[in-house]
Amino acid sequence: MDQRRSDFRNASGPVTLFGEFTLSSNRKARCSVNLTEKDFIIQRLDSAPVSCRKVVLSLRDCVGSQAYRGDDGADPSAYFAAYFYPLKKRRWVKAAPARQRVEQCFRLAALQDPRANLEEAEKWARAVQERSARQQHLRDGALLSSLPRPCRLMLFVNPQSGKGKALTLYNSHIQPMLSEAGVIPTLIITERQNHAREKVREADLSQWDALVIISGDGLLHEVINGLLERADWEEAIRTPLGILPGGSGNALAASVHYYSGVSQVTSEELLVSCGFLLCKGQVSHMDLVSLHLSSNQRLFSFLSLAWGFVADVDVESEKYRHAGAARFTVGTLVRLASLRIYKGRLAYLPASRGSSTDKGLQNGAAACSTPSSAPRPLEDSFPNTCHSNNSLKLRRSEGRCPQSAPKDVHGPPDSLLPPLDQPLPSDWVLVPQEDFVLMLAMFQSHLAEDLLAAPDARLDDGVIHLFYVTAGISRKALLRLFLAMEKGAHLDTNCQQLVHVKVRALRLEPGSGKGVITVDGEVVDYGPIQAEVHRGLGRLISG
Ligand code: ADP
Ligand code: MG
Repeated sequence: MDQRRSDFRNASGPVTLFGEFTLSSNRKARCSVNLTEKDFIIQRLDSAPVSCRKVVLSLRDCVGSQAYRGDDGADPSAYFAAYFYPLKKRRWVKAAPARQRVEQCFRLAALQDPRANLEEAEKWARAVQERSARQQHLRDGALLSSLPRPCRLMLFVNPQSGKGKALTLYNSHIQPMLSEAGVIPTLIITERQNHAREKVREADLSQWDALVIISGDGLLHEVINGLLERADWEEAIRTPLGILPGGSGNALAASVHYYSGVSQVTSEELLVSCGFLLCKGQVSHMDLVSLHLSSNQRLFSFLSLAWGFVADVDVESEKYRHAGAARFTVGTLVRLASLRIYKGRLAYLPASRGSSTDKGLQNGAAACSTPSSAPRPLEDSFPNTCHSNNSLKLRRSEGRCPQSAPKDVHGPPDSLLPPLDQPLPSDWVLVPQEDFVLMLAMFQSHLAEDLLAAPDARLDDGVIHLFYVTAGISRKALLRLFLAMEKGAHLDTNCQQLVHVKVRALRLEPGSGKGVITVDGEVVDYGPIQAEVHRGLGRLISG
């Protein structure tokens, strides 16, 4: 027995618990089970094929463990099961590894007393749970905050999102996994638009440890704005949120998966990955962006603000919703055929701007190509709205720009934005071009499951990743950009019309006429709009 224990000493650290059981599926299959601080190690003691004689599973991949009695009352044995979701290669050659379920279940029958067997099984289940939680809490020596156990989840399901399969996906993939993790959620099936928003606005949040959605990004947009519409918004927005991809636009879910450092996957593999992260329950801060519309409405966004090509694709592709995430690919091809130019003015505050001295893009702004004429300080332009003297006065005299926020909107005050009809401060940069193909402000990495728009974005980097494409780009070059974006390589395409700038705030004044602006994939009023990032304002369950 000692020999079996010491076999594992070097690989996984000292064995802290050791036992010999049979597999629950095969009573003739005897195994030694070793638990170290990091790993769960099973070694077959019978004449099993060499390939399955020894299995080492990382406790980081474990979502839970349970002990139970068998169905047969006359049988004194007890069982314990541990549930893992390790990354595994898939059969087809090119596919990235994805998380796949591995259940290990053992029968304990050493004693005649059924209670004693059950106690032993419970000791094992507890030991596995505690060690896997410890692995989770301590990463790189830092203590991370996690959801409590048992965990009270309010889980919103949008039955209309994507292909209309969110509930089926929940039942087939998520419900079993949550149950393995000992989490029993309260399900709310949304009945209409803004249903989740109303529920969240009125909920007694002391009853819930987290609010989770299974849908696309639109439903989380409702939940976040619902929280910030509450009188107790400061406390409410600290409620941990979770996202499970069940819509057609699953960009935040793809971003969370990407930040966990695992290769890109889509569809159900992405769902399993996000379900796994939810079970692990690690909570991180997430940036939220405050937006002001010309209608005087204020709202918050966690993902994106789009105008021009991307916004048009967002809206036009609604009719291909049944295609799921592929709707954006189809929409992009259709819109390319009728590519057009959008007139407007765009200004921003660079992320690292410390003083009002303007040095074009080089100050904190990473341009992927230098625009044909460099951006200039606001003094020379926006003749109707921007006037340097006024702007300076606004900034210097008041320090914090006053906001005329609508009555029912809460959230922290914006410190960088003057009211939308007032000139901008002089340390903002005005983009010299007024003919655009698209403007896309990203607050997280992914624009869709398979579009890595801002590869270096992080959940709470406090940065808006502003991209714009000016007129003059060919259809072919634009298509190349979107194809490269699948791997986040669009910034390497040397496209002269594409600019990427890291900013803290921006203002867009689209030209007159009709048009589309989307926020988190949802359409908002068309007209002037401005944004300011609030670093780490929200909290999200992520990896
Ligand atoms: P998708 O990615 O498929 O667009 P979303 O989560 O973005 O999925 O949801 C799309 C829209 O559906 C959102 O505007 C949301 O408010 C709305 N919605 C939520 N529940 C329902 C429902 N039961 N019926 C119709 N629309 C709903
Ligand atoms: Mg959507």
